[in-house]
Amino acid sequence: MSKFFVPEGMRPATLEERKEFYNSEFNLEAVASWINMRKGKTKFAVIIGRHTKIFPEEFKADSETTIILDEYVDLEDVRRQIVDFLPEAVYYDRNIYFENDHALGQELAFDVDPENIVCPIHGTLADKMKRRQGLSFCEIELELAKKQTIGLYEKLGEQFSDLRVVYSGRGFHIHVLDQEAYALNAEERIKIASAVKAEGFGIDAWVTEGEMRLIRLPYSLHGMVSRIAIPLKKKEIEKFNPISDKKCIPKFLNEGKRTTSS
Ligand SMILES: [Zn+2]
Repeated sequence: MSKFFVPEGMRPATLEERKEFYNSEFNLEAVASWINMRKGKTKFAVIIGRHTKIFPEEFKADSETTIILDEYVDLEDVRRQIVDFLPEAVYYDRNIYFENDHALGQELAFDVDPENIVCPIHGTLADKMKRRQGLSFCEIELELAKKQTIGLYEKLGEQFSDLRVVYSGRGFHIHVLDQEAYALNAEERIKIASAVKAEGFGIDAWVTEGEMRLIRLPYSLHGMVSRIAIPLKKKEIEKFNPISDKKCIPKFLNEGKRTTSS
């Protein structure tokens, strides 16, 4: 009956842990430097409990909804709103907006997801879906996703110059921050996504094509696995291990470890 499996040590965060994270560990300065690379207004979004089914009782009716946070004074205000909702996930909208809400352009991104990787043990995404394990992933898939991320980074580097890699809590995101990438139209994005897929990269095409505009906010907590989404330098990717790397492990997990081992 194991419908959902993730690598050992990963588990959903409780509401208390989400609260502790966003109150005392969430690195707003780092978030600010990420968001400030974007030249325009950014919208944020939260999902409270769609996958984890963990949500504050008062938000039961909206626990699976994507809630857009577009009215805020500053990032501290965004943080306060996150603490109100205690969501399992925080995203930002890759569109860049003028004050009048017209989209100026969209950040290009690639989502290398372990679930899209064909695993020698668990098979293809279709196999996993059949067993209702579409959101599950294993260490082999993580390792393969890492290799693909490095390969895709190198391939994209032939065309673009400002690339950022973020460990998302599950897989890896590559963000393209080159100005000309913001201006790509839908057709061009679809072309890029299918070229990348044709080369065997396990990306989620919806993200690259722009249909799915939301992407996990770097430095936020991935509430399904209790990992912090963190940017990685290219040379760090190879050795990065999300199961044990301290910089992506929230404090509440370390505290848990201390009490159980004593
Ligand atoms: Zn697997």
